[in-house]
Amino acid sequence: MTYWKLQCKECGKEWKLYISFPLDKEFNSFYHYCPYCKRNTFHKILNYVEE
Ligand SMILES: [Zn+2]
Repeated sequence: MTYWKLQCKECGKEWKLYISFPLDKEFNSFYHYCPYCKRNTFHKILNYVEE
């Protein structure tokens, strides 16, 4: 199981995006739907985790 740990820049919540491919780590702002804000926001990429 691999995922990206993201932090929403709007609400500050950390959550996991389950994807099987690595994103570019220099891609610092990731625009994605936030499950807490319930809208698209910018996210900070905290970690790429393989477990
Ligand atoms: Zn949010």
